[in-house]
Amino acid sequence: MTTAGHTNHADHPEQAGQTEHTSHPEHTSHPEHTGHPEHADQAGMVSVESHLAAILAAIKPLPPRDLALADALGAVLVSDVTARWALPSFDNSSMDGYAVRASDVAGASEQQPVVLPVKGEVPAGDTGAYRLVPGSAMKIMTGAPLPADADAVVPVELTDGGADQVAIRQAVPAGASVRRVGSDARPGDVLLPAGTRLGAAHVGLLAAAGLASVQARPRPRVAAISTGNELVEPGGALVPGQIWESNASMIAAAARQAGCPAQRRAIVPDDTDAVLAALREALPTADLLVTTGGVSMGGEHDVVKATLASLGTVSFRKVAMQPGMPQGFGTIGPDATPIFTLPGNPVSAYVSFFLFVAPALDALQGHYRERASPVQAVLTQPVRSPAHRRSYLRCLLDRAAGEVTPLSGQSSHQLATLARANALAIVPEQVTELPAGASVDVLELP
Ligand code: AMP
Ligand code: MG
Repeated sequence: MTTAGHTNHADHPEQAGQTEHTSHPEHTSHPEHTGHPEHADQAGMVSVESHLAAILAAIKPLPPRDLALADALGAVLVSDVTARWALPSFDNSSMDGYAVRASDVAGASEQQPVVLPVKGEVPAGDTGAYRLVPGSAMKIMTGAPLPADADAVVPVELTDGGADQVAIRQAVPAGASVRRVGSDARPGDVLLPAGTRLGAAHVGLLAAAGLASVQARPRPRVAAISTGNELVEPGGALVPGQIWESNASMIAAAARQAGCPAQRRAIVPDDTDAVLAALREALPTADLLVTTGGVSMGGEHDVVKATLASLGTVSFRKVAMQPGMPQGFGTIGPDATPIFTLPGNPVSAYVSFFLFVAPALDALQGHYRERASPVQAVLTQPVRSPAHRRSYLRCLLDRAAGEVTPLSGQSSHQLATLARANALAIVPEQVTELPAGASVDVLELP
């Protein structure tokens, strides 16, 4: 936990950069910080990378669970799934037509059709045991079991479609239009190897193989909790001093966009007992918790920080970034569930989710990889940035032109600017201004 004595929110560009930092670069190690795991810089801030590294070091992949197929999309297999039965499990027709012996229709042609008596009909789902009488045909539908002693199906298009007898206008080889038992998979075949992230076709295959559930590492379930006495449910009326709650809706949506099921929990007032109760209620059905608000530097009103600090498993840091400087991360509950306490300003919360929570969601799935690496683009306008903090500026990236235009309205309450942006341009910690024409790293937003 950092202790530097800033009391400003420092989440607004207007305020940022006015603090008393001196010009030490991010990773300089200072004697007074020897042994500090995160190499905090002189202002008590840790770098974005250090914070992310601490998060990833603490997160273990979720244990696999038995997931009903309805919950399996996006889950990752931890072992091979093998076929228990042949697929298909019986020879069946791939066409609507007539089951025959190929040898009986060998001489058929347009000019000289072979006429066979039709001895019955086999629709899909008919489980009767049929045997084809040599020299006859049986009407058969797609998916219906091939009668014993038949070895081919003549598609209805190659016949006159007759009911009592059928004129067959073309010879077909043995095996024609027949799906053989085991032609999709044989018992013991690996249907899906360990490591597969289950997509729609994979879920389909599991069902086709007769499985109702599968053992897999699930998508983490996210619970988004907002705190603040000023927050009002959208749709209701406001009185001055109140705002409509937006963070929890946004964070839940961002989690879903990252492929994870997410719940937006009820708004929590700035009250320790209420915060604790909300966390306790959310824990049983969540694999990762995200709170917003109540973690800045303002003292007794920062109820999330006060509440969690007393548990001792969540640490609060200042991360050298803007927006999003006050960050908390740790674990709570019997399963050591990861919890992120994000700052309350909506843009800070969103950028924090993007930089820290989204990688944590990957790590919980055992699939952590570097997220989309930044692209380079040229600034169309000059930008300013506070010293010692890495700025993530909402901007419009034109990939084709290789240009990036910072948007006006970069304060961290300005959600409208975020909604207009398609990317974040990065201004490094040691840089305080850049001219138009400078090249910057840009992260595309999902
Ligand atoms: P806090 O981090 O609680 O001090 O909040 C910082 C700023 O973010 C304040 O202006 C809050 O009103 C605002 N804020 C906090 N939580 C939310 C939320 N869930 N939705 C919208 N704005 C919020
Ligand atoms: Mg608050």
